Amino acid sequence: MSESPPFLPYGRQTIEDDDVAAVAAALRADFLTTGPTVEAFETAFKAKVGAEHAIAVANGTATLHLAMLALGVGEGDVCIAPSVTFLATANCARYVGAEVVFADVDPDSGLMTPDTLADALKRAEGRRVRAVLPVHLRGDVCDLPGLKALADGVGAVLVEDAPHALGSIGTFDGVAHPVGDGAYSSFASFSFHPVKTLATGEGGMLTTNDAALAARARSLRGHGMQRPPGAEPWWYEMPELGFNYRIPDVLCALGISQLAKLDRFVTRRKALTALYAEKLASLAPAVRLATSPAWSDPALHLLTVLIDFEALGTTRLAVVEALKAKGVGSQVHYIPVHRQPYYQARYGALDLPGADAWYARCLTLPLYPTMADGDVDRVVEALAAAL
Ligand SMILES: *Cc1c(COP(=O)(O)O)cnc(C)c1O
Repeated sequence: MSESPPFLPYGRQTIEDDDVAAVAAALRADFLTTGPTVEAFETAFKAKVGAEHAIAVANGTATLHLAMLALGVGEGDVCIAPSVTFLATANCARYVGAEVVFADVDPDSGLMTPDTLADALKRAEGRRVRAVLPVHLRGDVCDLPGLKALADGVGAVLVEDAPHALGSIGTFDGVAHPVGDGAYSSFASFSFHPVKTLATGEGGMLTTNDAALAARARSLRGHGMQRPPGAEPWWYEMPELGFNYRIPDVLCALGISQLAKLDRFVTRRKALTALYAEKLASLAPAVRLATSPAWSDPALHLLTVLIDFEALGTTRLAVVEALKAKGVGSQVHYIPVHRQPYYQARYGALDLPGADAWYARCLTLPLYPTMADGDVDRVVEALAAAL
C-alpha cells in the first residue's frame, strides 16, 4: 500500500521552535497573566499596523464586544454588518442590546460596498445607526473611504472586523494604509485563532487612534476596574461594569514571537496565492478566484474560489467529498449570517441576493505558509478531477 500524502487543511498555524521557546520562557517568568509581555505585544503590534493604541484581548469576539461597549452602543441602536462573515461580527451588536441590519455583499468579492451599505442604511432609516462593521473578507480590503463617507452621513462610525486582513494594505487617494492603522475607523479588530495569520491559540487585538476609546476599552477589558492616581495601594474603583477579557502573558509571548514573522508569512501567502492564480487559470471560467478590488493589496487569509457547481453538473458537497478523498481540506466562508435561525427568528426573512450568490459558489481551498509549491498543484489537480 502506498502512503497517502499528508492531509492539507484549509488553514493552519505555523509554530516554530523559537515560538515554543518564547512560550517556555514566559512560563518560567513571574507572570502567567497580565505581566509586561501583554504591553510588549501591544507595543509591537501597534507599531506594525501603524496605530496609536493597541489593546490585547482574550479573543477576537471579545475585541468586538469591547469596541461596542467603548463606543457606548446599546439598546435602541442599530449596527450594520455584512451578511457574509463569521457570526461574531453581528453578535457583538446583540451582546450590547443593539439590533443588526444586515448589508448585502458584492457577489464576486464577498465584501460590503458603498452600494450595499447605502441599501442597508435605507432599510435602517429612522433608526439610530451607531456603527458600521466592514469585514475585510478573505483579506481583501473594503472601500474604507466610501463606507466612511456614508457612515459619517448618518453619524455612525466604522469598526473594522479585520481578522482576515492582518498584513493587507489598502491604497486610497495615493496613500497606502496597512489594515489596522485606523485612518478611517474608530476601531479595528484582529483575532489570533490558529487558522488566522498569526496564532496565539485564543487571542485578539483592538487598534484605535482615539486615546479616550483606547482607555475605555482597556478598562472594560479588566472588569471596569480603575486605580485613581495617588490612591492607597489597595484601592480600585469600578465606575462602570466591565468584563474579564484579559489575554495571558504566556499567549502574548507567543504573539510577539509570531508577529516578528508576519512579513515572512505574508510573503509566503502572496507567493502561494500567485501560484494558485496561475494554476487555476486552466479551470476558468467555471472556477475563478474571488475578485480583489483595485485598491486592495491583500495578504490573503482565505483562498476562496467561486465555482458554478450547477453549470458543471455537480454539487458543492460532491466536490468537498472528492477533495477530502484526495487529502484536500476545504471550507465554506460563510453561510450568510442573516440565514441563521436566531436572526431569522428576530428579523424575519431577508432578501440579500449578493450574499446568496456568493454562498452558492464559494469554496475555500488550503492556504497557509508551510504549504509547499507542490501542494498547490495537488489541490488544483484534485479540484480539476473533482469537477
Ligand atoms: C475569527 C473571526 C472572528 C472571531 O475571532 P475569535 O478570536 O475566534 O473570537 C470574528 N470575525 C471574523 C471575520 C473572524 O474571521
